[in-house]
Amino acid sequence: MITLKNCRLIPELTEDYDDVMADILLDGKVIREINAPGTGTKGETVMDLEGKTVMPGLFDLHMHFNFDTVNVYELRARGESQALLNGISYGYQYLRNGYTTVRDCGCMYYLGVYLRDAYASGLLMGPRVITAGACNSPSAMGNSAFGPVYKEFNGPHEAWEVARTDIAAGADFVKYMVTGAVMNKGGDPGAMICTREELHVLSDVAKSLNTYVAAHCHGKEGIMACAEEEIGTIEHASYIDDECIEALLAHGNVTAVIPTLSVAYSMARNITGNTPDFMRERSLDVMENIRQNMAKAYRAGVRMGWGSDADRDTFSLQPGLEFKARREFMDLSNVELLRQATIDSARIVHLDSQVGTVKVGKLADLICVDGNPDQDISAMYRLPAYVWKEGKLFV
Ligand SMILES: [Zn+2]
Repeated sequence: MITLKNCRLIPELTEDYDDVMADILLDGKVIREINAPGTGTKGETVMDLEGKTVMPGLFDLHMHFNFDTVNVYELRARGESQALLNGISYGYQYLRNGYTTVRDCGCMYYLGVYLRDAYASGLLMGPRVITAGACNSPSAMGNSAFGPVYKEFNGPHEAWEVARTDIAAGADFVKYMVTGAVMNKGGDPGAMICTREELHVLSDVAKSLNTYVAAHCHGKEGIMACAEEEIGTIEHASYIDDECIEALLAHGNVTAVIPTLSVAYSMARNITGNTPDFMRERSLDVMENIRQNMAKAYRAGVRMGWGSDADRDTFSLQPGLEFKARREFMDLSNVELLRQATIDSARIVHLDSQVGTVKVGKLADLICVDGNPDQDISAMYRLPAYVWKEGKLFV
């Protein structure tokens, strides 16, 4: 057992314990006790955290193990072994950056399935993984640039097959490209590229397999279709507006929205210094709509998770970019940002009974942050001082 002494807790991210300061007892994978400082030091190992903030590990509900470079065209040349090595390395970085749970929204060679299982079995150290198979897409210009990250299919019959094949291969959910992509030169991010029937059938099959479709959607028409079809999650939702918000709420709020501000923000600001011009222009337009409408959706009660879609260069340069982007473009409070990145996201992927808050009995997925992020969110722009996944200290 390990005692984490003198932890500073954030009340909005802590359950069943009222004080700000605490000693936390970790027993194997779980949080066994949370006690007033000085009263619960039963662990064989004691770490004095000297008043630093201890909070739940972060979630990224929209990442890609394959996007370890901003030059996605490199992906085409990548073989299976290389893709796996890069994925392992990127997973390592995710955990280092404080992300204890990630959702891969489309990868080549069912990479996410292998990484998920290797991390879960203890073969490798990495975040908890929830994964799609490939980015399934109707045939569309530009898809081929991404190599095997994309899998094209057309028509309802192929939709049946694609969904069943992904789940049979071990994927947790089905990714589908409903509108064009910002990073895809041939695509119009606003336009729908599938038919309503294809979307309906894919979702229907996913539901029959007790899972859901994560729908890549930038444009309004796609968001509306996904709300009406009660799709599991809408990724990006860049051009969400009042009508979309109304449709999401009218359908019982079953569809969660996963904005990914990091990728658009980094492209709009050219953080890596090598963003192609067409991506910059599109990203500026996307960010403007996000400024106008994304916070409005959150305030209206749309369920909203934490995503980034970031490439590794950006993630290395600015580990807290999603916090920075949402602060600037959504104007959320520090606590709202922190809850979106933890418990709100845990709920969306149905892991809130196990992780997402600091609570006795939950898994010890924790990070220790130097500073008080609930008072100054810039504490999240730096790497955490320590990261534990299921009670095991990673750094
Ligand atoms: Zn993505």
